[in-house]
Amino acid sequence: MKFIETRGNDGTRPYNATFSQAILSPIASFGGLYVPLKLPDLGQVFLEKHTGSSYKNMAMDMLCAFDIDIDKEVLYEALDLYDNFDDKNNPVPVVKVFDDLYVSELYHGPTRAFKDMALQPFGVVLSSIAQKQKQNYLILAATSGDTGPAALETFKNRANVQVACLYPEGGTSDVQRLQMVTEDAPNLKVIGIKGDFDDAQNALKKLLASESFKAKLKEEKISLSAANSVNFGRIIFQIIYHIHSYLELVRMGEIRMGEKVYLNVPSGNFGNALGAYYAMKMGLPVEKIIISSNENNVLTHLINEGKYDLRHLSVVSTTSPAMDILKSSNIERILFDMFGSKRTKELMDELEEKHVYTLSEDELERLRSVFSADFCNGEEGKAYIKKAFEKGYLMDPHTATCFKAYESCALKKIKTIAYSTAEWTKFSPVIANALSGEVDAHDIDALKSISSLARVKIPEMITALFDKEAVQNTIIDKEKIEEEILSFV
Ligand SMILES: *Cc1c(COP(=O)(O)O)cnc(C)c1O
Repeated sequence: MKFIETRGNDGTRPYNATFSQAILSPIASFGGLYVPLKLPDLGQVFLEKHTGSSYKNMAMDMLCAFDIDIDKEVLYEALDLYDNFDDKNNPVPVVKVFDDLYVSELYHGPTRAFKDMALQPFGVVLSSIAQKQKQNYLILAATSGDTGPAALETFKNRANVQVACLYPEGGTSDVQRLQMVTEDAPNLKVIGIKGDFDDAQNALKKLLASESFKAKLKEEKISLSAANSVNFGRIIFQIIYHIHSYLELVRMGEIRMGEKVYLNVPSGNFGNALGAYYAMKMGLPVEKIIISSNENNVLTHLINEGKYDLRHLSVVSTTSPAMDILKSSNIERILFDMFGSKRTKELMDELEEKHVYTLSEDELERLRSVFSADFCNGEEGKAYIKKAFEKGYLMDPHTATCFKAYESCALKKIKTIAYSTAEWTKFSPVIANALSGEVDAHDIDALKSISSLARVKIPEMITALFDKEAVQNTIIDKEKIEEEILSFV
């Protein structure tokens, strides 16, 4: 499988990249992204073949259909990491909540958020390429809370890889911060910065583009890469669980093979939704992909009105912080798939220069033939958390955004699979507030009160965090980041 570029080729990069090339340097010509030249067509034959398969066997077969330049042994090793999820036999359980609504739980991995679904196997793949090339890589990650822990967890003690993870000091939950600052491995560096997530992300982008920084790393024989969700090495693992969730409904006897469903995705950077789109294109019977947002609702406007307009917007802090994003990177891959590289470059250039682009009526119609969208504010989200709890289902505030769009967008009488992207333990103060009105300053108090109210155990890896020693205590001004990273490597 070859990879091409969403904004066309600038003549300095290879016309067709391999999978390894695309994941080692994920930014393509003109600041575009890599996409597969042609998606494999799996069709119903594949689904029928795998109605009785394990997650890993189905996943392996799908990865093979992509024909990527990664050895099979490495892929087996990568997929084996799903054995460490709560249920080795089913890493992604699907639960009926009410009516036609089912929730696919993507958070049963080591850091209790859906980032593990892709980052766990991605760590093995990236480290294996680095070893094969006898190269050392520095992976940069900027996090608002979930990517950081998942990236540290997957790369810890892996050969030929070091990680520097930037987080906004005071901008994450207690659990998220503890997940990072208690990670103790010689190849990991966690840096708290005095600033917000945008400062962390901007610092990361600057370093990725800095020739002098790369030259200094080169003196130490180190190359630079990033673990954010524009990396196709993450996207490929995010196609699998959409197929799995559909097959689960077939296995549960809730749908017939071939019956269409809605997929309802709480979205930020659009990696999860892009995986759903690719699964649909590869033959999964999907009626529509429903995009759920919070108050940072640029995607709702894009899909309903055809306009991506950042001119008068700044990110607002919400109760679902992992979706607090305005520049949703993976939309670009949808634009490319629907409208081609020339138009994609035009639209992305407009966004950069004028902070707005508008689709034509035909283009909007095309987009709306696949996607529907709605957004849910914090108060509505809390009401859905309470309502679901009364029906016996405990969920986090990101998952809750799907419940609004389920009511407004899932118009046909067919089943909906909504995705749960985080366990309740990661955002406990919001949930405790939704369930009983209490206002907890600290996660530990909210964890305990939900645990007794809902009669659920706090998972051991979460309670253990509060007893672990914080070993990563660096907190610096954003001007000092480069210096700090260079002294670490
Ligand atoms: C990252 C994340 C999202 C958003 O996923 P995208 O793939 O970036 O759209 C939603 N919920 C949680 C809990 C997350 O960590």
